[in-house]
Amino acid sequence: MNHSPQIAYFSMEIALLPEMPTYSGGLGVLAGDFLKSAADLRTPLVGITLVHRQGYFRQRLDAAGRQTEEPCPWIVGRLLRELPARAHVTIEGRRVALRAWQYDVRGPAGFVVPVLFLDTNLPENSEWDRHLTDRLYGGDTYYRFCQEVVLGIGGVRMLRALEFDSIRNYHMNEGHAALLGLELLDTSAAANGRPHFTLEEVELVRERCIFTTHTPVPAGHDKFPLDLAGRVLGRHDFHEHHEVFCCEGVLNLTLLALNLSRYHNGVARSHGEVSQLMFPRYVIDAITNGVHAATWTSEPFQRLFDRHIPGWREDNYSLRNALRIPRAEVRAAHRQAKERLFAHVEQTCRRELDVSALTLGFGRRAATYKRADLLFQDIPRLKAIGKAAGGLQVIYAGKAHPADQPGKDLIARIVGLQRSLRPEVELVYLENYDMAIGQFLTSGVDVWLNTPAPPLEASGTSGMKAALNGVPSLSVLDGWWVEGHVEGVTGWAIGKPWSAVPNGDTHDGNHDGASLYEKLEEQVVPWFSRRHNAFTDVMRHAIAMNGSFFNTHRMLNQYAHKAYLA
Ligand SMILES: *Cc1c(COP(=O)(O)O)cnc(C)c1O
Repeated sequence: MNHSPQIAYFSMEIALLPEMPTYSGGLGVLAGDFLKSAADLRTPLVGITLVHRQGYFRQRLDAAGRQTEEPCPWIVGRLLRELPARAHVTIEGRRVALRAWQYDVRGPAGFVVPVLFLDTNLPENSEWDRHLTDRLYGGDTYYRFCQEVVLGIGGVRMLRALEFDSIRNYHMNEGHAALLGLELLDTSAAANGRPHFTLEEVELVRERCIFTTHTPVPAGHDKFPLDLAGRVLGRHDFHEHHEVFCCEGVLNLTLLALNLSRYHNGVARSHGEVSQLMFPRYVIDAITNGVHAATWTSEPFQRLFDRHIPGWREDNYSLRNALRIPRAEVRAAHRQAKERLFAHVEQTCRRELDVSALTLGFGRRAATYKRADLLFQDIPRLKAIGKAAGGLQVIYAGKAHPADQPGKDLIARIVGLQRSLRPEVELVYLENYDMAIGQFLTSGVDVWLNTPAPPLEASGTSGMKAALNGVPSLSVLDGWWVEGHVEGVTGWAIGKPWSAVPNGDTHDGNHDGASLYEKLEEQVVPWFSRRHNAFTDVMRHAIAMNGSFFNTHRMLNQYAHKAYLA
């Protein structure tokens, strides 16, 4: 028996299946994983997002590593069920009709978390409006704002059209969904026969809303010119409600979301602290992200856990017991995962890698702050490390946003290094990083490399996927790794922890590079090549200490206690 959903979870992207390209990266994967845990743990959530018919994009890389993008349309009707209900939004005076497609996330006990994919591609809409729900993060500012109207305002109206009348909490997963608060305010005012909402109504809406912020990078915080927002929404009351809109010529959706929610959080402890500094007028808590364990554990490790830790899928905490799994079995499962990754590399890039050689993995958006090229700061030193290791392999993957030229240049620079690194270091750059490649990559390498410039990585989740598969991280102390790192026990740190206390110097990239080489030379390479038991113990601790904790089951429980039921 299903209960009617009580928590509406709004996210501009939700990643549920590799064959549904309705996500660009971490935010969408997190949202999908969270909803899967809700289904597993029988928590009455409903997800709301846009259908993104043309997907994000398919990445092509030519021999020189130059990225081009292709649309990746998918057949919506094959994977989702169309609902008969219709809702409408008004965009610049135009009445735009919406429909919803439903996907059921089903838990092992049959509990269903419905996910609604909003779609404007209806014959009654104008040609332009029909394409509003086509492209994730595509188009110009106007297109983006209209999409946010569909998500926030259209989403609330669609829930009403579907008679989901038990919604108690609205969760804005990132500021893209902030307009939902406005819709709740306007509905309340209209119900009371007034054209404008009151301060009491603002208070009541705040009581019902939760807001999670996901990045300290300014570009991640949506801001729209106030005249554009006023034109699209057909409203001119921004200045009358300073406490809601805090306008200075712009509509800042992060501030709108903060003003219209009772509980706000960042996505890791350190990100909570950084967000608190960014928004000193608000109280910002932290709930550290997680991953859906059953989704991100490779088949060899699933079989291993099924043998030794029955029930681990429902009770992720029981992965603590991984310390008792015999080392030889952990090594054997990892070797299988590594062989699967290498088979994929051979198929897609026609490159043959050596299964016994130390292999580092790096998969993430090619944004420059992630510093994908930190490993290549000193190439002779890297080659010497490769030589000492008896061969070093590095597998990269990651897309640059179509408008991010520096990110694209970074990919080309890395691909261009391949020849100069041989024969000591073999470098592979996999095309079109997506969930499927993410599964191969995070489980199949020996060490997961993570080098963003602190404090810009809010959480990061790929290292958590790796941990579930016994793959330790070698990472700067930022995001989740501040909490997950125990030196030489769960992996290794690069550089020093970032400090929020200003001491005159900014984070030192050269120092991080030197530290990265040092850790490879003194720890990773000798442990991997000679101290096999010690290395396998790090693998077991990665599972037992980090896999057991950095998952969406634990994360959902924390949201329930701190936000939904509070
Ligand atoms: C897990 C995942 C991400 C997020 O990983 P980060 O560590 O946050 O960069 C991004 N893209 C894909 C395809 C993923 O599977």
